[in-house]
Amino acid sequence: MVSRSAVRRGMMAESCLVTRLDNRLDQLVNIDMGERGVEHLYQAARDLQGESLVGAAAETLMAVPEGGTVILTTGSVSRAWITPGLGENDGPSGAAAIARALVLGRNALCVMVCEESLLSAIGSVMQAAGLSSVTLEQAAIARTDRSLATVVMLPYATEDGSGRAQATRMLDDLKPDLLFSAERVGRNEYGVYHSMKGIDYGMGRARVDFLFDEALARGIPVVAVGDGGNEIGMGRVSNHVKAHVPYGDRCQCGCGGGIGAVTGCNILVTAACSNWGCTAISAAMAARAGDPKLLHSPRREALLLDTMVSSGLINSAHGIVDDSVDGFPRQSHIGIAELCRTIVSRAL
Ligand SMILES: [Zn+2]
Repeated sequence: MVSRSAVRRGMMAESCLVTRLDNRLDQLVNIDMGERGVEHLYQAARDLQGESLVGAAAETLMAVPEGGTVILTTGSVSRAWITPGLGENDGPSGAAAIARALVLGRNALCVMVCEESLLSAIGSVMQAAGLSSVTLEQAAIARTDRSLATVVMLPYATEDGSGRAQATRMLDDLKPDLLFSAERVGRNEYGVYHSMKGIDYGMGRARVDFLFDEALARGIPVVAVGDGGNEIGMGRVSNHVKAHVPYGDRCQCGCGGGIGAVTGCNILVTAACSNWGCTAISAAMAARAGDPKLLHSPRREALLLDTMVSSGLINSAHGIVDDSVDGFPRQSHIGIAELCRTIVSRAL
């Protein structure tokens, strides 16, 4: 018979192991390979939150009640001044990895919101992650009998007033347990949505940041992933965005502010590429569940990269449809998924 103290020692050893793995995942995805100043943002968020960012995010996501509801968002209208129909490929595959882990690990109802103009492309990425796009009513059936892994894709308003109104309505209706954002641009203090180059590209952009502000005001947990400073969640480290990110202090559009988003979060995860932050979080979720199914595997990352090309999502660093993301080539994304899996393998 195993004594109670031996069981307690075993549990403590396990929690120490998880903490070590969380810290390694943090380190891996915050190497500033793109030289965009993410190491400063990482340090700021780490000092503020006092623990592994990836670990805190995974802990919060795994704390969603079994069968709970999560609203997710991703997608950026990348060339808004040309067309609202083109999204970028950083964000969607990461958000898909998280939605998949939430469905498999928590039997969660996942509701993905973005521009109507990007629903089809992002829905294809969700499908490649194993999730069938259905209505809320259909998802409720699937959640009850666990017969299908699903996601609900909903359009979000692209004007400030209607964006605010939809925030109230959506939170009243869905009563979510958590909100999650991956690489979703938020407005600055003057209400302008900026690209990393400091230009205004708010046209045709869903005002999802108002939904996140309202969730925070209601005390609903918010987890956000970003790599540049202009994303939802970065309001948490706004002074550091101003100090360390190009155009963080002063944009090029003449609004008088910088590119930093005002919307904060409860748990901020920084990464050199937002998709990598999500890959690391799903690895930390897998470690907690002891279930490799929750991992974002290298094979699936390859599949999602191909799907994003066929859906027309662009590599925004180069302004072209290809399987580089944020200018990082295909093999680096597959490599990050492999390394995240290697890091958590001893917990699986
Ligand atoms: Zn501006």
